[in-house]
Amino acid sequence: MAKILVIEDESSIQKLLSYDLTQAGYQVDTALDGTTGLKKAEKNDYDLIILDLMLPGMDGIEICKKLRKSNNDVYIIMLTARDDEFDKITGLDSGADDYMTKPFSPREVVARIKAGLRRQKKTKHPNRSIALKNLTLDINRHELYINNKLVPLTHKEFELLLFLLNNKGIALSRDILLESLWGFEYDGDTRIVDVHIFKLREKLVDSGVVIITKRGLGYMLEEESNEN
Ligand code: CA
Repeated sequence: MAKILVIEDESSIQKLLSYDLTQAGYQVDTALDGTTGLKKAEKNDYDLIILDLMLPGMDGIEICKKLRKSNNDVYIIMLTARDDEFDKITGLDSGADDYMTKPFSPREVVARIKAGLRRQKKTKHPNRSIALKNLTLDINRHELYINNKLVPLTHKEFELLLFLLNNKGIALSRDILLESLWGFEYDGDTRIVDVHIFKLREKLVDSGVVIITKRGLGYMLEEESNEN
């Protein structure tokens, strides 16, 4: 049974989520403020965290950053109060895997959670690694090494890198990346892909591997040429 932590200070939403998720067969733990939420997330091994952005004590962004900094790659769905672009981008930038805008239906939450857990499991299953130039991606352990040095990745960055590596030399449109990695319609908003590509690029410095933008086609991973 998957264990889910819900960090949300609005008790009505908290109760509703707990009820819906328990009904859906998940084991649910809750926290009503940021500090307690972070403590629980650090102490326990959750399969997924639903994290509200605005929280007393410590906000969702900070919790996310702290967890990622300590190499915690738990799948995080961030909740934002309204359809606010700034919130979304900031949320993803802090290392969240997915986000949802309030209000949402129980069915939508459960669907997102299922997709998240499925992806988590799928990428944790294979037992192998990919090596290219100065980069090694340990698929089993979700770890990226560049020049034998560990470079922390969020879950989504790992998935994205794996997908790009598996499709090396092929230009991938934002729609394909969105569909393959998130599996949802983001009301046509593909900036979620751009943000993740941007973060991943920063981490691939010195790897000998680059993600280039093919105008009108999308993104493509290739080996860096040796001439500088
Ligand atoms: Ca809140």
